[in-house]
Amino acid sequence: MANKDYFFQDDHNAFRETLRRFVEKEITPKVDAWEEEGCYDKVIFKRMGDLGFLGLSYPSEYGGQDADIKMTLVFWEELCRCGALGFPMSVFVHTDMASPSLAHVGNHEQKNKYLRSICSGDKLIAVAITEPNHGSDAANIGTKAVLDGDCYRVNGSKMFITNGTKADVINTVVRTGGPGYRGVSLLLIDTDTPGFSVGRKLDKMGMRSSDTAELVFEDCMVPKDNLLGQEGHGFYALMAGLEKERLSACTLSYMGAQMALEEAVRYAKTRIQFGKPIIGHQVVAHMLAEMATEVEAGRRLAYHAASLYGAGIGCNMEVSMAKLFCSEMALRVINNAVQIHGGYGFMKEYMVERLYRDAKLSTIGGGTSQIMKYIISKELELRE
Ligand SMILES: Cc1cc2nc3c(=O)[nH]c(=O)nc-3n(C[C@H](O)[C@H](O)[C@H](O)COP(=O)(O)OP(=O)(O)OC[C@H]3O[C@@H](n4cnc5c(N)ncnc54)[C@H](O)[C@@H]3O)c2cc1C
Repeated sequence: MANKDYFFQDDHNAFRETLRRFVEKEITPKVDAWEEEGCYDKVIFKRMGDLGFLGLSYPSEYGGQDADIKMTLVFWEELCRCGALGFPMSVFVHTDMASPSLAHVGNHEQKNKYLRSICSGDKLIAVAITEPNHGSDAANIGTKAVLDGDCYRVNGSKMFITNGTKADVINTVVRTGGPGYRGVSLLLIDTDTPGFSVGRKLDKMGMRSSDTAELVFEDCMVPKDNLLGQEGHGFYALMAGLEKERLSACTLSYMGAQMALEEAVRYAKTRIQFGKPIIGHQVVAHMLAEMATEVEAGRRLAYHAASLYGAGIGCNMEVSMAKLFCSEMALRVINNAVQIHGGYGFMKEYMVERLYRDAKLSTIGGGTSQIMKYIISKELELRE
């Protein structure tokens, strides 16, 4: 175990202990089955809601815990210890990717109805931005929402949506106006609304304990009361939540790398070749040393960005740097962890095999590595 980390205080450490026991007892034993089935069992969300884990950063007025960002970091980190990154990702989508814009720009009625049940785990939420023809270029999405009486008539489709087959409500990015980001709005769409359907559940390389779906909207009539914030301001609301979303992606990456490192150290201490544990061969020992240094560097970049975020300081550049570094670093570290396991690392019964497949997503989802570089370079230009 690592030394005590002075980034966290006693209350965070106590919460970490509670979470670690919860994850060991109630999540880890189920993860293999969820990986096999290609999805988690939704009842776990209700259990986590009952324990107060799902609304850490949200106001107590709506069932949240009013906790600081470090508490959320502890939650993210400990959930990642379950032995797969897919299920944690689904939880982070619910708690910190799909719901922040509701908390930021939703009105009292919307928060009372939706945010409260998101915190309690009674409703599961997804966020639908990506479309078959619009990924990185999210400002140009084409799903149309046209006002028709007291409802928006929604037509279009969304691609790669996490929690898509299980969600009760989808925070959907739609076009209510002209081209570009100024024509974009957010609509909360209940999945029992006629005209909504799950096109198909997608089969994936990794993150298998999380579901991913294509969603279809065909003359789906959504009450105009479900518009989040103002028409045409949806892109700003989304952007406001992106720093936190990307911080959670950083955690998936450095924790994936951390777990692979721990597995590799354990394995290297017990695997005997040429008459001694392989950790006794300097090449392997140095690989482990480099892996540990990389994980530490990624974690500290993420903690720095989280500190800025917690202090309310704009940290688009720092979060983007952390996400870029952590997601690419995780690929390097986990690749080496597989290498240290030799042939066993290629076998499904070893955790590093799963981590190797899971970690790839972070260089793609939540903004690709190329898009992170674009954002960082734009910030450099602005700050010059
Ligand atoms: C498992 C999984 C879960 C996901 N969950 C969600 C979700 O819950 N909700 C949601 O809305 N989306 C989700 N996504 C979608 C994800 O956010 C997108 O895949 C991502 O934004 C990239 O979009 P794209 O796949 O269309 O790739 P594209 O945007 O088509 O990019 C293809 C390639 O071109 C590069 N590229 C594109 N534009 C540029 C540029 N300007 N400069 C340089 N390079 C560029 C990219 O970096 C990439 O390498 C998920 C995806 C996956 C795989």
